[in-house]
Amino acid sequence: MLILSSPSGAGKTTISRMLLADDDEINLSVSVTTRPPRPQELDGVHYHFVSDAEFDRMIAEDDFYEWAHVFGHRYGTPKGRIRAGLKEGQDFLFDIDWQGTQQLFQKDQQDVVRVFILPPSLDELRTRLMARAGDSAAVIESRMERARSEISHWDGYDYVVVNDDVYECFGKVREILAAERMRRQRQTGLIGFVRQLMAD
Ligand code: 5GP
Repeated sequence: MLILSSPSGAGKTTISRMLLADDDEINLSVSVTTRPPRPQELDGVHYHFVSDAEFDRMIAEDDFYEWAHVFGHRYGTPKGRIRAGLKEGQDFLFDIDWQGTQQLFQKDQQDVVRVFILPPSLDELRTRLMARAGDSAAVIESRMERARSEISHWDGYDYVVVNDDVYECFGKVREILAAERMRRQRQTGLIGFVRQLMAD
């Protein structure tokens, strides 16, 4: 389970897309949210968009690995597909916040890799937010405030990558994934392989 977290505007979505396009072995965990869809967001692709009542029902039925309140809405990681995929040895990418990261880590420390992406500076973050959203100054400032609060959780992660250049940042995340896959305990079948080596 590879978790990518960052304040909005730091480039996490771009890095996630690049990783998913580059690596056939990793699947995106599509979260469930009570937030209304933005233009161009598709149900089942970007999120599963549900009502408050549906979210309540999912909590009651223990359908979430983790869930949290983020900026006035609820977001959660549904268990179904992920549990089945993990059993088959698939890797999953999670675009979740620090609260979800803590919950997943507490549940499954062995299988979780936590990566935090930082912007090169707050000025640069503001520039990116202004370029992207076309929002009012007040909205941008509230996003900046949220960004500061997200950034304050940077020390709850295994890796921190500064996104100065998106290709370089992507390269580093890819290296992290490659190295983490090489960890002895993640290489299933190694015992048999080494036994065979020794027997030869
Ligand atoms: P947005 O509404 O901009 O898509 O996402 C807002 C924040 O919610 C982002 O920081 C994103 O990482 C986080 N988020 C998205 N899905 C989940 C989830 O399933 N669980 C948690 N804890 N956070 C999530």
